Amino acid sequence: MKKQTVLVALGSLFLAACSNGFEAAQLDLNSAVNANSAAVSYDQWHDSESHPEHLLIKWRSQIASEQMTSADVCKAFDEMDVQHLTLFENELADEANKDVVGECAEELLAKIERFYINDRAALTANLGNFFEHDVKTFESKGNVKIQGVGSDKTSDFKFQVVTKPIDTTLGYHVDPDRKDKITKKYKVVDAKQVVLTFDDGPRLNTEIVLKILDEVGAKALFFQVGEKAVELDKENKINYSNIAKKVAAAGHVFGGHSRTHANLRALDYEVAREQIYDGLNNVIQAVGWAYPIFRFPYGNSTPALINNLTKMGIASFYWHVDSEDWKSKRSTSELIDYTMGQVRAKAGGVILFHDIHKRTAQMLPQFLRTLHNEGYQIVLLKPTKIIKSPIDYKPVPPKP
Ligand SMILES: [Zn+2]
Repeated sequence: MKKQTVLVALGSLFLAACSNGFEAAQLDLNSAVNANSAAVSYDQWHDSESHPEHLLIKWRSQIASEQMTSADVCKAFDEMDVQHLTLFENELADEANKDVVGECAEELLAKIERFYINDRAALTANLGNFFEHDVKTFESKGNVKIQGVGSDKTSDFKFQVVTKPIDTTLGYHVDPDRKDKITKKYKVVDAKQVVLTFDDGPRLNTEIVLKILDEVGAKALFFQVGEKAVELDKENKINYSNIAKKVAAAGHVFGGHSRTHANLRALDYEVAREQIYDGLNNVIQAVGWAYPIFRFPYGNSTPALINNLTKMGIASFYWHVDSEDWKSKRSTSELIDYTMGQVRAKAGGVILFHDIHKRTAQMLPQFLRTLHNEGYQIVLLKPTKIIKSPIDYKPVPPKP
């Protein structure tokens, strides 16, 4: 009798958990949207327990303990506003999350794609051609044919890029105040000049960014995550080092952004150094060489690490304008206005983008056209030296 009562109780608990799984997933998604919108920095967003990376881990364990099902997660995603669903585009596309979202990932990605296509149609610089590959993949999956996309181009203007050589052996650190903090020798750029920078690649979306930049003759700095640059995705036959090579071949300046995108401020000095130099060595391994440039993930530097980079002849970069292209609260045109607003207020400077987000590629054509129309120049900060062999950074052991 007693045993039966326990079983009944367990059974109803199980049922209650099942019906609540969807609501729990929906609450999680709401918190993610709110946390993303409220975050004052990329760091704060990434650290939030509602960040997509953390939610996928949480759901995986909740599914394992039968508090939730994949169907609950899928249903919650399906009911989500598509503009916010874009926050999850990389997680949905990741094969490693198949166990959680495998049932619905393809459908949701198609929904996101459809959203971007419609959103794009509202822009003056439509630029469908740059998304040709996406459109083809979208259609090949049995989706409806897309009308009127792929005819508009921005090629009616080209930037005359100003290349500014930087001698990184003198010590070079771009701080948030438009100054080169170490040498104090020169301003980073003059008024009405911008430096375009892209972090966190290489990913597939990097190729779209490259096409757009090429179309208008723009050059940029790419800060790549080491482990991504050497990643080989056998299942999808993607060798990411080939994308890193394309960045180099297109004449952009590229360097490191740590090995795993770690928060280096939170690590021991030597571990942080390993992250910096192993990451740069990954990029050298992927491409065959690299520029001596580095950006701290989340901008979280320490004076000791900046000094070490200086000693190693490697430039470190902060930014002056954060496009906040990692937030889903702005539509593409709002994102362009937001970024241009800062550019105008600061009369230019180093602009931070992320080449891993579709919405970044989406905003770029019209953003670049606006820059050009308003008379901004694009500056390519180009180190005078390159690194051809892996950096030996290990401390020399003391002589016995
Ligand atoms: Zn980053």
